[in-house]
Amino acid sequence: MISKHVVDEFKRILGDSGVMQKEADLLNYAYDAAVLTPVLPGLVVRPGSSEELGAAIALCNDNGLPVTVRGAGTNLSGGTIPEKDGVVLLTGAMNKILEINEEDMYAIVQPGVVTAKLAAAVAAKGLFYPPDPGSQNVSTIAGNVAENAGGLRGLKYGVTKDYVMGLDFFDAFGNLVSTGSKTVKCVTGYNLAGLMVASEGTLGVFNEITLKLVPPPKASKAMMAIYDSVEAATETVAAIIASKIVPCTLEFLDNFTIRTVEDFAKAGLPVDAKALLLIEVDGHPAEVEEDAARVEKIAKEFGAASIQVAQNEAEKNKIWEARRTALSALARLEPTLVLEDATVPRSKIPHMVKGIEKISEKYNLPIGTFGHAGDGNLHPTILTDKRDAAAWHRTEEAVNDLFDIALALGGTLSGEHGIGIAKSGFMVKEVGQAAIDYSRRMKRAIDPKSILNPGKIIGR
Ligand SMILES: Cc1cc2nc3c(=O)[nH]c(=O)nc-3n(C[C@H](O)[C@H](O)[C@H](O)COP(=O)(O)OP(=O)(O)OC[C@H]3O[C@@H](n4cnc5c(N)ncnc54)[C@H](O)[C@@H]3O)c2cc1C
Repeated sequence: MISKHVVDEFKRILGDSGVMQKEADLLNYAYDAAVLTPVLPGLVVRPGSSEELGAAIALCNDNGLPVTVRGAGTNLSGGTIPEKDGVVLLTGAMNKILEINEEDMYAIVQPGVVTAKLAAAVAAKGLFYPPDPGSQNVSTIAGNVAENAGGLRGLKYGVTKDYVMGLDFFDAFGNLVSTGSKTVKCVTGYNLAGLMVASEGTLGVFNEITLKLVPPPKASKAMMAIYDSVEAATETVAAIIASKIVPCTLEFLDNFTIRTVEDFAKAGLPVDAKALLLIEVDGHPAEVEEDAARVEKIAKEFGAASIQVAQNEAEKNKIWEARRTALSALARLEPTLVLEDATVPRSKIPHMVKGIEKISEKYNLPIGTFGHAGDGNLHPTILTDKRDAAAWHRTEEAVNDLFDIALALGGTLSGEHGIGIAKSGFMVKEVGQAAIDYSRRMKRAIDPKSILNPGKIIGR
């Protein structure tokens, strides 16, 4: 229980409207987008300014209160599941784009800015912020940085970390720390901004974020390659990468996902196809034409039954709408959906897809597989029912097997969804005990009372 004295102190700092303690309010922040048991916090606070944010963190530290900072709560690894009776700190009221600098091509934003709003604001000024997680209409920039979010354009444009130039963050004591710069190059001191990326709220709380912007591509072309065999599709992915063409997007959908999306979205997808590749190339118009022609040729050589090239913006949008609908479409089929993101070197995609099919058979669980094939980052999505103990046990075993296969292929537990609490128990399999011990020592030095999102990533 958080004492009345401390609650009053939060109200003094944040005002009555910045502090929530009713059970109905607390329930809203007991869970996130991961399939994990909700945990009720003791208090939810909503600072509206940097001063309030720093003071709220200092108050948590003074009283040894665990604090889980939360953007939109869309993470898929339990990163915003709070400690029981702890504090949830919302950043939604700190949602201003502070500067878009066209000359030096950067933006400075508060933590709660919604990703798509930033992308639209910079596009209106003729610039481009490429990271585009599927959740971009609700996810926040701070959540993206704290998870190192990726998206459909990762193959060519990289992920969130590639755009973080600098950060102001509050440490566990409520001190404001500045790191990075507005310059293209900066090697002054440790790369603390790099340390903050993917730190999932465990090392500091972002206050302002400086992001790199780039010029938008002048042209683009999208196509859908249709396959009668999964092998042919996955081998095409490896062949495109090996040909040294870098599409901005190279996505895979298996037959189960194709049928489910079509049933839901009526996007005109070929339901008999065993697999689809959705591909977009962008850049200078001449380069786009050349790359698109080469990709088409490779896709045919590797057995595409047919290829549909989008003839206009509407057709292009239709292709991407179909891809973006995949998760929602699959979610309609069963009460529980476990979306994984184990990632492998790109040449190992065919092996990973085969492995997923075997797991689906072994545990008798439907798995829809789609995702960022060009990044080696597939999203095998297990459809199950958490209320059915036997099905849930099989699901846990299946997830374990997925991680084992990805690691055996030289891959990683998470390409973009983070570790949180969902995967912290598996960390040792990938990084080993020494890396976990090192990380724990660092965390203890930075946050001696372990108030910042305790238990996430490295356990306790
Ligand atoms: C439908 C759907 C599609 C998705 N698609 C993608 C995708 O394509 N690619 C991808 O990478 N992810 C995807 N995700 C996962 C998720 O949206 C991303 O991880 C996103 O970055 C989370 O942003 P958020 O604002 O919701 O953060 P939250 O979920 O609120 O928080 C995520 C983490 O960030 C920390 N955090 C939040 N704010 C701060 C702050 N100010 N300072 C320090 N730490 C902070 C939290 O403590 C937590 O650990 C998807 C999720 C859904 C539900």
